[in-house]
Order: sequence, then C-alpha cells, then structure tokens
Amino acid sequence: MEQIFSRFKEIADQPYGYLRKWKEQNGKKIIGCLPMYVPEEIIHAAGMLPVVLQKSNEQISLGPANVQSYFCGIVRSLGDMIQENKLKFLDGVVSPDICLAIRGLSNMARMRMREIYYFDLLLPLAVKNKASRPFLRDELDRFKASLEEFSGNKIERDSLLRSIQVFNENRALLRELCDLRRKKPGLIGAADLSSTVVAGMVMPKEEHSRLLAELLSGLRKKEAPFNGAVKIVLSGSLCEFPSRDILDLIEDAGCIVVDDDLYAGGRYIASDLGVDGDPLEAIASRHLDMAIPCPTRFDQGSDLGDYLVNLVNTSRAQGVIFLIVKFCQPHDMYYPYLVEKLQDAGIPNMMIETEHEMPSVGQVKTRVQAYIEMIRRNAK
Ligand code: SF4
Repeated sequence: MEQIFSRFKEIADQPYGYLRKWKEQNGKKIIGCLPMYVPEEIIHAAGMLPVVLQKSNEQISLGPANVQSYFCGIVRSLGDMIQENKLKFLDGVVSPDICLAIRGLSNMARMRMREIYYFDLLLPLAVKNKASRPFLRDELDRFKASLEEFSGNKIERDSLLRSIQVFNENRALLRELCDLRRKKPGLIGAADLSSTVVAGMVMPKEEHSRLLAELLSGLRKKEAPFNGAVKIVLSGSLCEFPSRDILDLIEDAGCIVVDDDLYAGGRYIASDLGVDGDPLEAIASRHLDMAIPCPTRFDQGSDLGDYLVNLVNTSRAQGVIFLIVKFCQPHDMYYPYLVEKLQDAGIPNMMIETEHEMPSVGQVKTRVQAYIEMIRRNAK
C-alpha cells in the first residue's frame, strides 16, 4: 500500500515529468484540460489522453508579463509555464469558461500556443436557466466535432459509452477510498487522498484504477489508528490543489480530515454518467445538476451552504476549515455567505488563505491549533 501511495505522490508532485515520459513511451496525443469541468470522457473516446493541468511548484518569473498579478496562483503559474514553453509536449489544450481569471489565461495561451489544438469550451454560468441546456448541448456537439477533426477518429456512441464506463469505474473506486476515510478516520491522510485523486487526473484512468483496486483491497482490511483527534471537513481550493505542506500541517495540529468538497477530492469524482441514453445529454446533465454546488456557477436549485452543513453532519465532523485560494473571486464572494450558514448551524469554522508563494506556515499552524483547542473546549 505504501508503494502505491508513494507512486501516486510522485506523479502528483511531478505531473509534467511523468507525462513527458509517458508520451515518449506511448506516442499518444495528450490534451491538457484547464480546471474545472472539462468532459474528459469525450477526449478519451477520441483516443487521446486527457489530463487536468496544474500549477508547478516553481517560483513565478515571466508569467506576470502577460497575466495579471492579481489573478490566482494557478493562473499565474500556468501563464508562466506557457510563456516559458514548458508545456510544449501537449498536443492540445481545452479551456472551460470558469471565471475571469481562466478567460485571461486562455486569451494568452491561445496566442502563445498557436501550433497546437486549442478549444474554448463555453459552459453556462446560470445552470438552471431555460436556455442553458440547449446552449450546453450545442457546445458539447461542437467540442465533439472539433476533437474528431483534430484526432482523425470518429467518436461513435459506443466508444463514448465505453470511455464513460472507464471514468465511472475510476470515480467509484475513488469514492470508496473517501468512504473508507469517513468510516475509519485516520486510515488515509488528507495529503495521501489528495495525491491519489491528483495522480488520477494525470495518469490514464485504466492504470490508475488498476493501482487503486490493489490499494483498496489492502485498506479494506486495515484498521484505523484513530486517536481522538478533532474531525473536520475541508472546503474550497477550487482549481488550485492544496499543497501537501498545508494538508499535513492541518492534520499535525490535532485534527483529522474526514471529508471534503475540494476539486482535488470529492468534487472531481462526485457524479457518474448514465450509460444507457444519449451520452452527450448525460454529460450536459452532470454540469447542469452539479452534485456539489460550485461558487463559479449560479444555481437557483442548490446551495453550497446547505451542502456543507449536510456534509459535516453525515461525516460527523466537528468543524470546517476553508482553504481559499488568494484572489479567487468566485470563492471570495461566496465565502461570507458560507460562514453565515455554518454559524447558523452551530458549526465552528476557520479560513486559511492559500497562495502560490505561501509564506511561513508557522503562523497558520498556530491558528489551526487555536481553532482545534476551541472546538475541544466547546465539546466538554
Ligand atoms: S481558483 Fe478561482 S480564480 Fe482561480 S481559476 Fe479557479 S475559479 Fe478562477
């Protein structure tokens, strides 16, 4: 089990090194997907490897020349990598219309990466609007046709359904991992769970599922060393994955993560697609009926605050730690409302603002320790 976790960690830490090597060995096309919500299944069905692009851990140098310095870390870091030509092994990039910052990055990337395939995927902002479904359906048809033209492979219904099954299987295995963490607190650390999900965003899903199945067969038999630590839910970190340092720091401060709504966690694997109807219609429904409400969308039918309260109750957590990416406008605007919802439900919460160039984590540790202490005192 340790070996599999360290393989996932290695890939999650160095995704681009892994992908360059993978391409040399397999010769297949790689399509980078900017986060979040690109329907990777369609790319897979066209015979290419979809991967979710992530920031690097390197210092940002050239990026600010083309991307605003008040954009979030992932956007600035990807801008830097594009400017420095570090993503040239990619055969294409798909940019979903998530927020203003991604749009800014996308404009720059389209200009700088002219020699590769580039697709701007427009996603409806107001997901319950009457016009949203036909709009998204047209967009998915346009995306499919564009991938067919680029790859030279026709995407038949059967091949798309087969790809959906591969992704559904992978999501089901990851959800089982999350279930085990909830049922046996302490069995899987937050950093290991995050690396496992992130590795799956990079590796071929078939290979990731094979390793995951092996990992799960060991974990199911293992007991958890739960030591009475405070159980918490992590929320936030939209497109930018929280660093291992922050996740370890949180758990070292006396708490244990039992659930989350992070993109590098529960959000990425929240919903499966049906395999008996029109696959593009199923993909549209997944976006319009999001299993986990998203601050980047306007959804009159669901509420992230209610979702969080429910997540805390079902996982029997004692509090929430928000991880908010610095300069993430959609999340910043939502945050006060979420705090109010949790306060009304009597759920203690705290916020850690994360940044690409994270300053000393010492202060953060002291704040988390004080928060945990407060929960312990209140529980007496
Ligand atoms: S982290 Fe926030 S600001 Fe940055 S790209 Fe994602 S949604 Fe946009």
